[in-house]
Amino acid sequence: MSYITPRPISGAELEVLQTVLLRAVTPHTPQVTPDELKSLVVYSKCDCGCASVGFLPEGTKANENTKLIADGLGLSPDNKQVGIIVYGSPGQVVEVEFHWPYEGGAPLPRPETIVPWERGTEVTEVAK
Ligand SMILES: [Zn+2]
Repeated sequence: MSYITPRPISGAELEVLQTVLLRAVTPHTPQVTPDELKSLVVYSKCDCGCASVGFLPEGTKANENTKLIADGLGLSPDNKQVGIIVYGSPGQVVEVEFHWPYEGGAPLPRPETIVPWERGTEVTEVAK
């Protein structure tokens, strides 16, 4: 991750983050209010060209109790599976990562396709 000029979270990022935190929870997912998500600021992004972004200002450390708070899977605009991982703790969303096994950085998945990671075979079926 590299620090960038801070910018508000985009509408598309917000929609993906809201959806994955609802549909792909882990035992560590805290209550995150819509206002908390809307006020997130993007301070860093991945260098590989994927859509992963970080929400902590330079010099701010993630809380010690930071855990995996969402673990999902969705489909890219061209129907390839994109993994979605969110790290955070109560009151702090640290970053959202997008990953896939293909060439080039993983894009934002389409929010309506997002399911929990362990239900990944279903999104492939949805795509057909
Ligand atoms: Zn990346």
